Amino acid sequence: MLERLRQEVWKLHLELPKNNLVAWTSGNVSARDQETGLVVIKPSGVKYEDLTPDNLIIVDLQGNVIAGELKPSSDTASHLTIYRHRPDVFGIVHTHSRYATAFAAVNKPIPMVLTAMGDEFGGPIPVGRFALIGGEEIGQVVLESIGSSSAVLLKNHGVFTIGPSAEAALKAAVMVEDVAATVWLALQIGRPDEIPAEDVAKLHHRYTHIYGQ
Ligand code: 13P
Repeated sequence: MLERLRQEVWKLHLELPKNNLVAWTSGNVSARDQETGLVVIKPSGVKYEDLTPDNLIIVDLQGNVIAGELKPSSDTASHLTIYRHRPDVFGIVHTHSRYATAFAAVNKPIPMVLTAMGDEFGGPIPVGRFALIGGEEIGQVVLESIGSSSAVLLKNHGVFTIGPSAEAALKAAVMVEDVAATVWLALQIGRPDEIPAEDVAKLHHRYTHIYGQ
């Protein structure tokens, strides 16, 4: 069932440790199938090297397990809350990547000081309020805080990214950690200037409409 999507979600999980976004089992990826609306997500607490396309879990948008023997990710209810309220979202990634989570720990958004942020996110990376793990609350915080961005920090916790595909959400997770590290370094040696909003809009437009092939 959903063989192609299982393959995709499995491969994208392997990118988490490769890109230094996770320690041990602390992060998850999900994708929503365009046709059935079913969601493929990581089983909870399974090491990335032990994941296979076949031990991923398939759930419906209400959280009923449709396929899979293992317990689904502890963030499943939150992923599903996001999918139910954002019909444009087909992929979600959660990490505790180090530099971005340092901003989350001190409840600070990542300020809009790099062209790379204008390109990918079109603005600062917002930070949402603290929420406990295990239910829908994290999903609600993501929905209320993410605005038009593809990434949000969760106070005292980590990062959620969303996208039109799981790969796009993973790219946002890689990019948010990269800009968080650069901004953190910049803050050690000075006070970076914010890029004016009209330039941010131009950067974002060029990157999303003209850049690349
Ligand atoms: P799971 O292994 O249950 O997905 O939990 C990972 C995590 O990061 C919880 O916040």
